[in-house]
Parts: sequence; structure tokens; C-alpha cells
Amino acid sequence: MCTLLVLFAWFGSGNDGWTWATASRVPVTSILTTTAPGRRNPPVGSAAPIESGEDVTVTKRLGVMGGTFDPIHHGHLVTAEEALCQFALDEVVFVPTGRPWMKTEREVTPAEDRYLMTVIATSSNPRFSVSRIEVDRPGPTYTVDTLEQIRVEAKGPVELFFVTGADAMLEIFHWKDPEEVLARAHLIAATRPGYDLTRFETEAPTAHPNVSVMHIPALAISSTDIRRRVEEGEPIRYLVPEGVQTYIEKASLYRRPA
Ligand code: NAP
Repeated sequence: MCTLLVLFAWFGSGNDGWTWATASRVPVTSILTTTAPGRRNPPVGSAAPIESGEDVTVTKRLGVMGGTFDPIHHGHLVTAEEALCQFALDEVVFVPTGRPWMKTEREVTPAEDRYLMTVIATSSNPRFSVSRIEVDRPGPTYTVDTLEQIRVEAKGPVELFFVTGADAMLEIFHWKDPEEVLARAHLIAATRPGYDLTRFETEAPTAHPNVSVMHIPALAISSTDIRRRVEEGEPIRYLVPEGVQTYIEKASLYRRPA
């Protein structure tokens, strides 16, 4: 059973700019206390018997979990699991970024290390997988290209749900082809405790009805804090999967330069 609060919102256009609305046009404050039902497919196996000759093509609901994952932590894993549940997804593919072209403020750990940590962290969940799409693509990587490549590689009808942090999604209009990103996937913005939705409401203008906000208490864990902890010699046990902790130690990641 899904247990976390999911907030649904979409944007409507008015003369005074972009405003949030819900099906019942309740104010945002009301949305914040409402547990939305989520979008669901019929449960697997519940369909009526198939008549012979009937088209049985099923559209796969695929979550695409985008992030730098430097390092991946339990907050990311809970987010993906919750998206699976709340949006009735069939699978979630984690897509570690290649060279994050907008990150200039700090040195990002090599993509191969972040990819391997993501594989280690997700390996025990049969509905999780990891894609090398962005790791292997030379040059800057753009979500719009990633979504198209995933759709092509799916080799069948697929509905994409792009999951990432709300802060990252706030910048969507600085991304490459934002309208195309919005056309290619339903966007799910994950927030951490204390996240101020005001900016998201006022600065994420989109006419598209398919943007959802998913509040994840476990995102109190952050990659930034984990990197700081390692650098300062503080424990990270239970914040990241054990294998990821071991990888960080073996590869000497995030240590203070000698
Ligand atoms: P970021 O700036 O490193 O992260 C922003 C915030 O979102 C951080 O608080 C981060 O927490 C959180 N976050 C990131 N990924 C998350 C996830 N999957 N689930 C929950 N929280 C998450 O963002 P980023 O990692 O560079 O970019 C996020 C995604 O947006 C990537 O897939 C990236 O490719 C895409 N993006 C695309 C473009 C483009 O197409 N031009 C530009 C920018 C970003 P943690 O630090 O704890 O993860």
C-alpha cells in the first residue's frame, strides 16, 4: 500500500499568468492536505478474459528516475518505490547523469562511479534497473534526448514518468526543449521535508496538466549531506545502502584532499 502523501497539481493559464488548479479548483492550501488517489492501471491479472483475435497490446508505464546520484541514497530509493506505487508504474529505470552541464559550482564524481553505486543500490529490486544512456553519451546530456532514446529502446507502447527532485525541475525552462520534455513524459517532482512549494507554484509555469508533486519524507537524506559527512569523517551507515557505503570507502570518494 502506498503510504506517502502525493500532491497533484497542474497549471492553468489565466490573464494574470500561470496559476495552479485541481480538478475541483480547490486552492493550493487545500491540495496540500489532500492525499490524492494516484493514477492507476487495473491491477495486473484483473483484466477480463481476452477474446481470441483481440489486440492485447499493453502500454508499459515506465518511471525514469533522473539524477546525479552523487551518491545515491535511501531517499532516492524510497522516492522510486513510492512513484512505482503511487503512479502504478511497471518498472523504474534509474538514469545517472553523464556530465551535468549546468553544474559548475562543484566537481562531480566520475559518471562511472555514480553509475556503479546506482547499480549496487538498486540490484535487490527486480523492478528497478539502471541505464547507461547518459553515462555513455558523449558531451552534455539532455533529458529530452534521454526520454526519446528510452522510448525507442522500449520497443513497444510506453508511457514515461520522469521523476526527479523538485529543485531540479524548477529549472526546467532552462533545459533543452522544455516543451518537448513535457510532451514526452509525465513529470513527478519529489520534495523533501520543509520544501517550500511557493517557488515551484510560481516559477514552474507550464500549461501541461501532467506535473505532479510527490512529498517524500525520506528525502531528508541528501547527497550533499552524505558527501559532507564522509569528508568530515561522520557516519553514513543507514543513510545509503551498505554496498554503496563500501564502494565509497574502497574508491576513496568524498574524502578531504590530503
Ligand atoms: P540536482 O541539481 O543535483 O538536484 C537538485 C535537487 O533535487 C537536490 O536536492 C537533489 O537531492 C534532488 N534530486 C535530484 N535527483 C533526484 C531524484 N531522482 N529523486 C529525488 N531527489 C532528487 O539535479 P540533477 O541531478 O543535476 O538533475 C536532475 C535531473 O534533471 C537529471 O536527470 C538531469 O539530467 C535533469 N536535468 C536535465 C537538464 C537538461 O535536459 N538540460 C538540465 C538539468 C537537469 P540529492 O542531491 O540528494 O539527489
